[in-house]
Amino acid sequence: MKVFLETYGCQMNVSDSEIIRSVLAAAGHEVARVIDEAEVVLINTCAIRENAYRKIYGRLDTLRPLRKRMFKEKGYFVVGLLGCMAQNLKKDMFKHPVVNLVVGPDNYRALPDLIGKLAQGNQKRQQEIDVDLSEYETYQGIDPKRFDGVNAWVTIMRGCDNFCTFCVVPYTRGRERSRPLDDVLGEVRHLAAQGFSQVTLLGQNVNSYRAGVQRFTDLIVAVADVPGVERVRFTSPHPKDFPESLLLAIASHPNICTHIHLPLQSGSNRILELMNRTYTRNEFVGLTEKIRQTVPNISITSDIIVGFPTETEADHQNTLDLVKAVGFDSAYIFKYSERKGTIASKKFPDDVPPEVKTDRIVELFDLQRDIALKKNQAKIGTTLKVMLEGESDKRPGFQVGKTEGNMTVIFPETPHRIGEILPIAVTDATAATLLGKSQSLRMPVLTG
Ligand code: SF4
Repeated sequence: MKVFLETYGCQMNVSDSEIIRSVLAAAGHEVARVIDEAEVVLINTCAIRENAYRKIYGRLDTLRPLRKRMFKEKGYFVVGLLGCMAQNLKKDMFKHPVVNLVVGPDNYRALPDLIGKLAQGNQKRQQEIDVDLSEYETYQGIDPKRFDGVNAWVTIMRGCDNFCTFCVVPYTRGRERSRPLDDVLGEVRHLAAQGFSQVTLLGQNVNSYRAGVQRFTDLIVAVADVPGVERVRFTSPHPKDFPESLLLAIASHPNICTHIHLPLQSGSNRILELMNRTYTRNEFVGLTEKIRQTVPNISITSDIIVGFPTETEADHQNTLDLVKAVGFDSAYIFKYSERKGTIASKKFPDDVPPEVKTDRIVELFDLQRDIALKKNQAKIGTTLKVMLEGESDKRPGFQVGKTEGNMTVIFPETPHRIGEILPIAVTDATAATLLGKSQSLRMPVLTG
């Protein structure tokens, strides 16, 4: 059958969709390039914020005419909800009239069977669901089907045991489990042979990686040593258990990128405790100082939530102060939204008024933009190592690439190939992007 797969949400979902494509291809299904050709539409969903839900319901509404036409022409049409929203809402998803398949993140091996049942069933009312969480599923043995590009996402572990009170992930993705180190290494060698220049190791909390006695630092060092791997990235570590050995590995391996995404969430000790983040603001600041002492010029980015239940103006000021003190290179800032089934949804009413959340997010966003702009302007006149990713969508005649610190750089077209690392002299900067020009290879090149 022709299957159209659409992906929403985080990089973990992007990586899962590559697994899903592989499972479906092995069962003989084809990819539909446009949705109108599809007999099966699969939507891989996110549950992290209310906005993500709204987007998916809107998308499902647009499928009504196609469903009507397909039932008329073929007698069947499959619309499958996959991923975290499927796992979170389970049978409730069938309340939407186009959905007839619901599959959680641990059940993608069952997709061909479930799709087959729906196609043979020939009944408009038939529904299939598989949302059992597994303690063991890591999709070992499945070779993810990737699109060409510079970067390959490699999932090294699944699930999370941290139970931050605002977060739905422990309920939608289950308990932590890690892939064997040799299994990950085999995949990375294969990726290098296929020409991927960069791998990004993915996990809900990579510092929790455990494979026998081997830990995340052992894994990342082994990956960095694979011939052909020009750059290694990882996301995300939890601030509570950041090992010094990982910093030393970054400092001593030129191909482990000098970028750490370190989610802060709040700068108030009281809110951090309610969130069950298990660190204090001083511990967080201390960690960022240690990171910068060990790896100078490293880029530190973060996630922050505004308007968590009971957050006062004083709590918010604590977050602003901490953001100023640390000076993140960039940050994703979100308004708190209650997620069904989380500890916060059961214990803490969502009591910060929407207009207060809006004021706080704007204030924090403005502060972070000013910090990022100053940091980027300080790079003008330096030369950075930039991995070429392709043509710029926005500026014809320009190419785009990423620094080690994961900053986007735009520069006039060069004759170089995608995946090559070029010295680029920074000539201008905004809060989000650097502008530059290609340099002679003899110029001194900085990390950052
Ligand atoms: S560490 Fe916290 S925020 Fe991150 S996935 Fe786990 S529970 Fe969610």
